[in-house]
Amino acid sequence: MPNDILVIVEYKDGGVRKVSLELLSRAKEMTSESSSTLYAGIIGYDVKGIVETVQAFADKVISVDSAVLKDYRWDTYVSAAEQLVRKFNPSMIFGGSTVTGKDLFPRLAARLKTAIISDAVGIEWDNGGPRIRKPLYGGKIISWLTCKEGVVPVITFRPNSFAITNRSLNGEVIEESLEIVPDSRFSTLNIERGGMQKVDLQESDFIICGGRGMKGPENFQILEEIADIMKGRVAASRAVVDSKWRDYDDQVGKSGKTVSPKVYVGCGVSGALHHTMGMDTSKVIVAVNSDPNAPIFSYADYGVVGDLFEILPVLRDELIKAKKEI
Ligand SMILES: Cc1cc2nc3c(=O)[nH]c(=O)nc-3n(C[C@H](O)[C@H](O)[C@H](O)COP(=O)(O)OP(=O)(O)OC[C@H]3O[C@@H](n4cnc5c(N)ncnc54)[C@H](O)[C@@H]3O)c2cc1C
Repeated sequence: MPNDILVIVEYKDGGVRKVSLELLSRAKEMTSESSSTLYAGIIGYDVKGIVETVQAFADKVISVDSAVLKDYRWDTYVSAAEQLVRKFNPSMIFGGSTVTGKDLFPRLAARLKTAIISDAVGIEWDNGGPRIRKPLYGGKIISWLTCKEGVVPVITFRPNSFAITNRSLNGEVIEESLEIVPDSRFSTLNIERGGMQKVDLQESDFIICGGRGMKGPENFQILEEIADIMKGRVAASRAVVDSKWRDYDDQVGKSGKTVSPKVYVGCGVSGALHHTMGMDTSKVIVAVNSDPNAPIFSYADYGVVGDLFEILPVLRDELIKAKKEI
């Protein structure tokens, strides 16, 4: 059986999400190694622009373009994805471990009666099958998983797990018109956008996260200033979100978002397991905490023991200075 891979592409506001380009890049390396085909599946409505972008990254771009797919719904998108898998027979299906991915892919795996491996951070070939890297217990353990021969796994990967490589391919476009019947038991009345954020939290290269040690919502202004300088995003621990200092959209951790930025700075975050599960694969972790025994320091590459209200203004001013010197 060829080791073809199907990546289900996610896009937002007319652009392909970074995580999908990362997955296409890694999948292309793997299909090249095994002389097989990389398929990109694009499900939606009016997706011509997305198809054109993705053509540079995949051997074959399957476009399922239908008015019934205008807005994301689990029933229609799962139906389309299932039909693509059944028709193109990939050996693996890749998707992003994003908010939409967490809704779509477990359902797809259930529909296909196959295995799902979620929140992975790496993959390679091993004796002709996949060897998948997945952190457990807040990164304290790294597990390596494989699948029984013949199993076609659905694998979701955390954003920022792989580098993007544009190979300037010119993937063949395959237009699929599928029969997709929405579940008649519910319908979408209206979709309202929440507050617009500059950068998607899961795709941000720089995240500065405030914990309960920030003491109140008004003190997050300095985090916003630092995030602006670094073109990144402010995140929050659950303690902060539960206190209504920040929106749930900002929450990192087990019951929030999984992030893997180039730099994560935790400020007044203790580093409880439920929090670190969502950020332990960040490339560089910096912690600012007044308690030298805070668990976050056991994850940090750089730690500052001290009062964040003294340290953050200095950090902001130094970043402004450094930016001016560039
Ligand atoms: C099922 C379940 C799911 C959960 N999901 C999540 C999740 O998704 N995300 C998440 O974050 N948590 C989650 N939690 C909660 C988690 O266990 C912790 O309670 C939470 O992460 C603690 O938040 P915190 O670090 O902001 O607060 P705290 O644990 O109260 O830590 C505050 C830190 O600030 C430091 N500090 C105080 N003042 C200063 C100062 N002036 N300068 C510097 N440092 C200072 C303190 O030393 C302390 O380490 C979950 C819990 C459960 C049970």
